[in-house]
Amino acid sequence: MANTLPGLIAAAPGPGAAPAIEAADGRAPLSRSGLRDLVRDAGAALAARGVGRGDRVAIALPNGPEAATAFLAAASAAVAAPLNPAFTAGEFAFYLGDLRARAVVLAAGAESPAREAAAARGLPILELAADAATAGRFALSGPAAGPPAAPPPPAPDDTALVLHTSGTTSRPKIVPLAHANLAASARNIGAALALGPDDRCLNVMPLFHIHGLVAAVLSSVAAGGAVVCAPGFNALRFFAWLEACRPSWYTAVPTMHQAILARAPRNAAAAARAGLRFVRSSSAALPPQAMTALEEVFGAPVVESYGMTEASHQMTSNPLPPAARKPGSVGVAAGPEVAVAREDGAAAAPGEEGEVMVRGANVTSGYENAPGANAEAFRGGWLRTGDLGRLDSDGYLTITGRLKEIINRGGEKVSPREVDETLLDHPGVAQAVAFALPHPALGEEVAAAVVPREPGAVDAGALREFAAARLAAFKVPRRVVLVDEIPKGPTGKVQRIGLARALGLAP
Ligand code: AMP
Repeated sequence: MANTLPGLIAAAPGPGAAPAIEAADGRAPLSRSGLRDLVRDAGAALAARGVGRGDRVAIALPNGPEAATAFLAAASAAVAAPLNPAFTAGEFAFYLGDLRARAVVLAAGAESPAREAAAARGLPILELAADAATAGRFALSGPAAGPPAAPPPPAPDDTALVLHTSGTTSRPKIVPLAHANLAASARNIGAALALGPDDRCLNVMPLFHIHGLVAAVLSSVAAGGAVVCAPGFNALRFFAWLEACRPSWYTAVPTMHQAILARAPRNAAAAARAGLRFVRSSSAALPPQAMTALEEVFGAPVVESYGMTEASHQMTSNPLPPAARKPGSVGVAAGPEVAVAREDGAAAAPGEEGEVMVRGANVTSGYENAPGANAEAFRGGWLRTGDLGRLDSDGYLTITGRLKEIINRGGEKVSPREVDETLLDHPGVAQAVAFALPHPALGEEVAAAVVPREPGAVDAGALREFAAARLAAFKVPRRVVLVDEIPKGPTGKVQRIGLARALGLAP
């Protein structure tokens, strides 16, 4: 059983000439054997720049096939660290430092605040020039330290990918995912979705988040199928991509599905012609109405899954027909063991709410350099997800709430502490507490309660601008409420969960 990324790529079923990575722009597909060669050559190019096993390669590329292949190549030869290309210079400075990045991969010649952040750390920039004819094929250039050399093959326990999760007690924490974790997850997803060489996924998810990297790219590659890597989500172009690329499925977050639904009436024929085998939703709760509407539009089953970075994405999934999918539920354990625990750690009874726990080959062995966080997050070999849920008597899980304080903005996770710290840098701010504000389309939006140093010292608009200059747009509080005092919970502590209600902003 292939337990590394190069092993998965090599062992995938089907002929070497079959397409693996495709673009939505009409370029020729990269075949399975082409992908194998690219991963080998890019590994040698990294080695020539002194980057090898264990070294972190930050990747800040626009979405598309090269983001997928750069991830696969860097993870196979070193450690891939994909970053949101929309980060500000300050965010890049934090992430490059925290990751101890050895090199930064950027689109050749493209402007990016990552250049300044890399220069400040003396990090080499590897310029990625995309091939004009073949999707995902690229050449790397940058300061060479030696001749190209084949890197040694990775071991299953070697780290392949590092991502940050939005922690609650500090700035985001690093989650190292081993080759074996990712391989297990790709297989779990392939099994849940019955993926095979005839499948073609349309990826619209960002390729710096676990959902797109594993559920779309790695699961497709491992199954011998293909993945069409769109240049990001675009509801206006989505139906044209369906017609041009003929995918058999796509996976997205609920806000994307809702944007697709909004465009569906004028694209009804294209949706019906698409002949999708299924549609997948994950990373935030899919409203049952949206599930029903999507099934009608595409004439295909919609399977909702529950994923988490620490679990290399998928933990549960609704099954494909003929088994039942339950609207509002995230389905049954789909790979790892899944349990619901009472506060004392004992298993909850069917129907009883408790914390969702997972254990399995896809789960990280622990956050990096965070003994305190690991002591809290793991209990008896089980990872505490920080999500609340209940299992029904058929083993279907429903997510009912959250113990952790992250803000889930339509699938994009925001660490409230990071927003607090940014606002506290403003000289007029005495206290700042970010919280989740219920939002009809996104589920949750970022908001913040701020106590000014003196009356009139700040106004909400100026604070939002201040935050916008320092944070990527999705983290900027859409609503800033100025208050004399932050409402406290029963123990006298500020409680983010429930703050929207305490401030009269939510029912
Ligand atoms: P991430 O690490 O970004 O994948 O975020 C993981 C978190 O997203 C989980 O712990 C849940 O809080 C949330 N999440 C993921 N999938 C779902 C879902 N289908 N329904 C509700 N929440 C979800």
